Amino acid sequence: MAKNSHIEWTHHTFNPWWGCKKVSPACDNCYAETWAKRMGQQLWGASADRRFFSEAHWREPLKWNEDARVAKRRERVFCASMADVFERRAILNNERARLWEIIEATPHLDWLLLTKRPQHILYMVPWENNWPDNVWVGTSIENQRVAEQRLPNLLSVPARIRFLSCEPLLGPLELGSWFRRDGFYPIDWVIAGGESGANSRPMHPDWASTLLRQCQRSKVAFHFKQWGHWAPANLLNLPAETVELANERPVEMVRAGKKLAGRILQGTTWDGLPSPAVHA
Ligand code: SF4
Repeated sequence: MAKNSHIEWTHHTFNPWWGCKKVSPACDNCYAETWAKRMGQQLWGASADRRFFSEAHWREPLKWNEDARVAKRRERVFCASMADVFERRAILNNERARLWEIIEATPHLDWLLLTKRPQHILYMVPWENNWPDNVWVGTSIENQRVAEQRLPNLLSVPARIRFLSCEPLLGPLELGSWFRRDGFYPIDWVIAGGESGANSRPMHPDWASTLLRQCQRSKVAFHFKQWGHWAPANLLNLPAETVELANERPVEMVRAGKKLAGRILQGTTWDGLPSPAVHA
């Protein structure tokens, strides 16, 4: 699906800047920091520099928007893979303001703003109760403790689509009561996956399966992105090891690497997306 992005659920990736500061356990093995270091850039930490981009970079979404308009289709833009749009730091304010402008100027693109700092969303965007239809807002949650902290902030955001990224999934999640609140369904989409890369932590297969079941019960669209570095042993004919995670049944898993581990869960792939009807 991805045209210029390696992420299955988006067509494009746009970064208003590079660089960030770690905020929770999911950040421990931040792939963006690793990638930036590989490029020779030291951009992580409260006082580290951030990398900013040229005019040509900022013109790219305008071109994607025009292509989407001509093709009469909507395209998704993931923002941001190398930063957190809602990081609070004065040196980011200009780029952030520019991002809001470009979002408003590209109505044929759906902008997926994913953050680990949902507490900053409402005062950082200029839209108050009049959000553009082409903004989807999501927060990352890796375990129940983080879910309880971040979900109230996400649910206070009046965006047309709200979503969760449960990747890397580092613990069991019980989200049923967040999926149905006061008779309405405030979460439209869940993306889940295990960790990949060096020092990856295993995702217990039960965590993925129970999250899928919760989504099915509440009719929340579900996308299973990957097992990550570790795969359940029954998926692959490779030497397995017994993985024992706190409060979980021991499970046989394989250090397969992301590619081999694949993205089959309960015998199939899961590529759910929020209903297109919301764009009618
Ligand atoms: S918030 Fe995202 S980009 Fe920032 S350190 Fe954490 S994982 Fe990396």
